Amino acid sequence: MLNPNTNYTALKDSYLFYHIAQKTKAYLDAHPGTHLYRLGIGDVSQPLCKAAVDALHQAVDDQAASETFHGYMPECGAQFLREAIAAHYAGRGVMLDASEVFVSSGASDELGDILDLFARGSTVLIPEPAYPAYVDANVMAGNRIVHLPTGKARGFLPLPDDTIEADVIYLCSPNNPTGAVLPKELLQQWIDHANRTGAVILFDAAYEAFIEDDALPHSIFELPGARTCAIEICSLSKTAGFTGTRLGYTVLPKTLERGGQNLNAMWVRNRTTKTNGISYILQKGGEAIFTDEGQSQIKAQIAVYKQNAKILTAALDDLGIWYTGGKNAPYIWLQCPGGMESWDFFDVLLQRAQIIGTPGAGFGACGEGYFRFSCFGSPAETAKAAKRLREVCKQL
Ligand code: PLP
Repeated sequence: MLNPNTNYTALKDSYLFYHIAQKTKAYLDAHPGTHLYRLGIGDVSQPLCKAAVDALHQAVDDQAASETFHGYMPECGAQFLREAIAAHYAGRGVMLDASEVFVSSGASDELGDILDLFARGSTVLIPEPAYPAYVDANVMAGNRIVHLPTGKARGFLPLPDDTIEADVIYLCSPNNPTGAVLPKELLQQWIDHANRTGAVILFDAAYEAFIEDDALPHSIFELPGARTCAIEICSLSKTAGFTGTRLGYTVLPKTLERGGQNLNAMWVRNRTTKTNGISYILQKGGEAIFTDEGQSQIKAQIAVYKQNAKILTAALDDLGIWYTGGKNAPYIWLQCPGGMESWDFFDVLLQRAQIIGTPGAGFGACGEGYFRFSCFGSPAETAKAAKRLREVCKQL
């Protein structure tokens, strides 16, 4: 008889967004037709930019003619896209070989798959609050999880600690859910720590495109020592509205070795076994994002989300509510007013202002008492939500 993976029994049964959806549905069943202001799930609202759409259309036409048709694509990514991404990094002074860039179908997929590189039962360090998939993917893999709580005193930024032994360290910057960004000095401390202890950092840079402060690093590879301890996982989901189109990339340097094995070579072996590449059409769409035209178009879209953040943070400033994020990130992480617990604040916002946000407790125990707003909605909706937020919080 089949033995199922019993690690699944250790998963928490109620996923954060599932629980939010249930509460939302219950509210709508009781108040049919009510309009809700969605500052919750981090999906984007703007369509793909013109450069991507034109490239996608052209790629479909390519597939329609025998002279330009493409069958299976290389498993690790099309050379044209790997080179375009490497050139994009070079623009920031990070020199990569195209063979160090792997094209993926998104950061989520990659964050789960990459665990194949590490022995089952590895110890993984997860600074919290954290994107819930980090924890769940490691529970499924049977890994040992060490939770590293962060807090308001240090702006929810994690500090390395040489007394904690870990094989794999997750760092997410700009962070989901807190919007906090690791400054260079702190990121350097993590790199030095990983090189000293032999850990590998999984650097989730899904939100790097939101960084506007020039002093903050977009990539861990901007810093010395990262090439011997880090893997960077990126996505076009939030950068370019590819959440429903699906495309990401991972940077895995050829200089990363552990236990006598080269992780880049291992990942090539993994991809050539477990994937048959990403669609030619999507990779052409992705390539367009790295052109000058594509870059200026996505910057204009990101500016719209940034404006949403300004509207929401202005309301929080006026209300005297503490928060982090919202400047170099599309998320605002706020302290629930009046010492409220985060699911209670969720209920207050839903019942009294018809706003849906995300309770901080869903991102780890240290998120209790905090709350996340996402800035990916439409400007008009966000402005209305900010007005309602002001009215409700004034009374708390
Ligand atoms: N990493 C973080 C921190 C995220 O917030 C998300 C999506 O919300 C992802 C990864 C997944 O991105 P993708 O759409 O590329 O799978």
